[in-house]
Amino acid sequence: MSAKRVLIVGGVAGGASCAARLRRLDEQAEIVVFEKGPYPSFANCGLPYYVGDAISDEAKLLVATPDLFRTRFNIEVRTEHEVVGIHREERKIEVKDLRMASVYHEAYDALVLSPGAVPIRPPLPGVSLGGVFTLRTIPDSRAIREWIQRSNAKRAVVVGGGFIGLEMAEDLARRGLKVTIVEMCDQVMPPLDREMAEYVYVHLLDNHVSVHLADAVARFEGSEGLVTSVETKSGARFQGDVVILSVGVKPETKLAKEAGLELGPRRGIRVDESMKTSDPSIWAVGDAVEVRDTVTGEFCLVPLAGPANRQARIAADAICGRPARFRGVQATAVCGVFGLTVATTGVSEKRLLQVKNADYEAVYVHPTDHASYYPGAKVMHLKLIFRRSDGLVLGAQAVGEQGVERRIDVISFAIQKGATVFDLEEAELCYAPQFGTAKDPVNLAGMVAANVLRGDVSLARWSDLPHCGAFLLDVREEEEFRRGSIDCAVNIPLDQLRQRLCELPRDCPIWVNCARGHRSYYAVRILQQSGFAAHNLSGGYNTWEVWYPDGLPSSEAPQAEEQSSQSRAA
Ligand code: FAD
Repeated sequence: MSAKRVLIVGGVAGGASCAARLRRLDEQAEIVVFEKGPYPSFANCGLPYYVGDAISDEAKLLVATPDLFRTRFNIEVRTEHEVVGIHREERKIEVKDLRMASVYHEAYDALVLSPGAVPIRPPLPGVSLGGVFTLRTIPDSRAIREWIQRSNAKRAVVVGGGFIGLEMAEDLARRGLKVTIVEMCDQVMPPLDREMAEYVYVHLLDNHVSVHLADAVARFEGSEGLVTSVETKSGARFQGDVVILSVGVKPETKLAKEAGLELGPRRGIRVDESMKTSDPSIWAVGDAVEVRDTVTGEFCLVPLAGPANRQARIAADAICGRPARFRGVQATAVCGVFGLTVATTGVSEKRLLQVKNADYEAVYVHPTDHASYYPGAKVMHLKLIFRRSDGLVLGAQAVGEQGVERRIDVISFAIQKGATVFDLEEAELCYAPQFGTAKDPVNLAGMVAANVLRGDVSLARWSDLPHCGAFLLDVREEEEFRRGSIDCAVNIPLDQLRQRLCELPRDCPIWVNCARGHRSYYAVRILQQSGFAAHNLSGGYNTWEVWYPDGLPSSEAPQAEEQSSQSRAA
């Protein structure tokens, strides 16, 4: 039998991984990778750090060269060769040699598409001015570096406050630029829930980055062809000698579409669980494909390196006749910004609200990353979202200076394996004082969630606060209460609660808050066991400040009077 001929379109994350795995499985196969750019297998995830000079040697971004592919793997890589067509009936691709401007055809037994995604460049006035960049390739990052140097840039505007936008903000600041982030949503880091993103927002301000939220860019303004400022829809204007567009990517599907391959509702290439497209000889992986979200079951686009690499391996296995199945994605992601780590996995609360899924609860814990008595412990903020009906873990988000990604990784795997909050309670995790706590943050989140499901504590929802009709009890210390409180809340510090139960109403629910939800949990236990209908406002006053920065809507104020008169009467 003649050797199988596998052609791969795209030579970076998915393409290079797939090629290497194919070789390990089939020594006889002929494998050719076509990459339209000048480099195969480069570290696109490292590009922001190259712009910021944390990585100063460009060569470090090259993970493998065509030489290495040839000598170690017997794989031919043709850089600056763009695949411009797929002739499915003849099982041939049409290739343009970009250096020679010539076109030729190559036959395949199996074809793998890993063409990635293209950064979105919104068609706004001035978007073509010099100094307005997107970041996807080594040449892009080199151009940004050179621009900053040549123009002696002092101010940068980053459009988009997602993962890449934040990385770029930090890296531009590291180069001494004054950075403004302009973000269309009312929060940075849109995959996070707003109250979690607030920690990131405050941290950006603390690090002298200006952040302009809830306003979209309307135009780029310039002089002599070079960008000088960005104007938003609201009329705000931000000076910038360099502008980075990081407003997302769209799957690169031109080839697939022209070849008549099926696309999905999100306009990504449709594949089955073995990454096979609607054509039985063509596989597709990476940013260009749509895959199922393991939590929601919906098709989605998750342009991340982890899924691309795993899918590439599965496609290679399938091409070699091995049973292989992609489990789906849950958008597990992490980002570092000015020493803060932000990580997320699974579904967010706002997404559940969007799809009108009410069968969930969310709890917050704020433990230290390791034993607080061991030097250097840092508080992390962790939100766990789970199904109310059975405790299935649905999502988690965490922000902190240390140990955040480790906890999200554990929860991510729990989600993938269909674990519940009761499993998180019982998870056996590494512990020594310098690394963790005997009750790890993951255990703690599981315990708090399990308490809710066992009925030991009832949760109140922040979204229901304006019309809850509840008595609001704040159990923080008087000094903390004086510094700020939830509208209409009455203060009885936790340590006085047992003696002052007579001040509380028995004819309406009591919603209890403290700073972050810990003391209020103790208070709810006391109250419940004393016959009160008490509910914990998980996340505490910290969360109130994010949900209601301007206080409760004034139309809801009458409850306040009623509440304080009740309290006085009591
Ligand atoms: P790519 O790696 O982009 O490779 C696609 C290649 O195909 C490209 O080189 C392209 O030139 C080539 N190509 C396209 N069409 C053709 C054609 N017709 N003919 C020949 N070649 C073609 N992910 C993370 O998980 N963590 C991170 O920290 C992270 N940081 C990132 C930072 C930046 C700045 C960027 C841009 C991305 C980052 N990502 C990160 C995302 C990650 O890099 C991608 O998800 C991953 O590279 C996708 O792999 P892929 O093979 O689908 O596409």
